Amino acid sequence: MSLCDLCESQLDRPGHVPPHPQLAISATLRMASGQNAFVYRCASCGQTLLLASDDEEAPDRWTRLDADGWR
Ligand SMILES: [Zn+2]
Repeated sequence: MSLCDLCESQLDRPGHVPPHPQLAISATLRMASGQNAFVYRCASCGQTLLLASDDEEAPDRWTRLDADGWR
């Protein structure tokens, strides 16, 4: 399954870019670093995007959440 155009353009954008209209928040996670991460699911393509920062120093960023690699 591939990302729709909206998700494609969302990826790798900084966290201040708002989620596109088809994205609905599905979970809030607490990262090991103590940071919160936000999981969004796309109603259009069914893919899951993650809004999180790698550490306290790094700004939030939109990334793709690979379900197979998520534990
Ligand atoms: Zn999508």
